[in-house]
Amino acid sequence: GQKVVLITGCSSGIGLRIAVTLAKDEKKRYHVIATMRDLKKKDKLVEAAGDAYGKTLMLLPLDVCSDDSVKQCINNVKDRHIDIFINNAGVGLLGPVESISIEEMKRVFETNFFGAVRMIKEVMPDMKKRRSGHIVVMSSVMGLQGVVFNDVYTASKFAIEGFCESMAVQLMKFNIRLSMIEPGPVHTEFETKMMEDVAKMEYPGADADTIRYFKDVYLPSSIDIFEAMGQTPDDIAKCLKKVIESNSPRFRNLTNSLYTPIVALKYADETGGLSVNTFYNLLFNFGPLMHITMSILKCLTCSCLRRRTI
Ligand code: NAD
Repeated sequence: GQKVVLITGCSSGIGLRIAVTLAKDEKKRYHVIATMRDLKKKDKLVEAAGDAYGKTLMLLPLDVCSDDSVKQCINNVKDRHIDIFINNAGVGLLGPVESISIEEMKRVFETNFFGAVRMIKEVMPDMKKRRSGHIVVMSSVMGLQGVVFNDVYTASKFAIEGFCESMAVQLMKFNIRLSMIEPGPVHTEFETKMMEDVAKMEYPGADADTIRYFKDVYLPSSIDIFEAMGQTPDDIAKCLKKVIESNSPRFRNLTNSLYTPIVALKYADETGGLSVNTFYNLLFNFGPLMHITMSILKCLTCSCLRRRTI
C-alpha cells in the first residue's frame, strides 16, 4: 500500500520540493501530508503539485514550535499512522554573536532543535508500537562542521545531530530507521534574502574589525561558495527520495561530494587543529581567491569520495 509521509515546513524551499517530488512519484507510492505554519502560504506548493494536489498530496497546518499545533496536526492524521516523518522546518541565523540577542538565539533553537524533538516525541510512540517507521531529519553540513559567523545556527544543527545519533541506537531495537540529510549550500529564496538583509544591517555591539571580517571577508566568500557549490532544492529532494527508498538507509547522508573532504578534516585530526586552521586559511588567506580554492577542492574530490555521498 501507499506510505504515509508527513513533512514539516513545506511552504517554500527544500520542503516544498520534497513534498512535490514524493507526491508525483510515478508509482504513486506515497500519500504526502505537507504541513506549514500558515496555510495562506500554500499557493506555490499547490501550483507546483498540479494534479497531485488532492490525490497524493494533502495539506495540514503545523507549527513545530507549538505543543498544541503539533498534537492537533498528528491527531488529524488517520489513526495517527505515519510511515515516514520528514523534519525539514528550520531557520537560519548569521552574523557576529555580539549583535545577536539571547532571545534571537533561543528562537533558532526553538525551531531547529526543540521543534524537531517535539515532532519526534509525537510520532515516535506510534512507530514503536508498530515496530516500523522512518524518521528523516534535515540537518546540514553545519551540523557536522562549525562555520564562522554561523555560530548559533551551527550549534542548533550540532544539537539535533547529537540527539539523533543517540536516539538511533534505541530506535534500531524497534525497527525504526533514523536518517540525517546534510546538504551544503542550497539555492533557496531564503539564502538571497538573508544575504541582502545581512549586508544592510548595522551590527550594534560588534567592534569595527569584527563587522569588517563579517561583511567584507565572510559574506563575499560565502556568496562564492554558494555559486561554486550550491545545489538546488530538487537535488536535495532526489537525495532524500533515495534515502527513503533504500533497503538499508544510512544514518548520515551528505548530499554534496565537495563537502566530504571538508568534513573529513575533523576526523583526520582529533585535536581540531587541522579543521580550525584550514578554515582560517580559507577565509583570511585565500578569501579573495575563493573561486580558485573551490576549483582545487573540486579536483581533489576523487570519485572514491564521491561514492560516499548520497
Ligand atoms: P526555507 O526558509 O525556504 O524553508 C524553511 C521552511 O521552514 C519555511 O517554509 C518556513 O516557513 C518553515 N518554518 C520555519 N519555522 C517553522 C515553524 N516553527 N513551524 C513550521 N515551519 C516552519 O529554507 P530551506 O533552505 O528550504 O530550509 C529547509 C531546511 O534545510 C532547514 O532545516 C535548513 O536548516 C536546511 N538546510 C538549508 C540549507 C540551505 O543552504 N538553504 C543548507 C543545509 C540545510
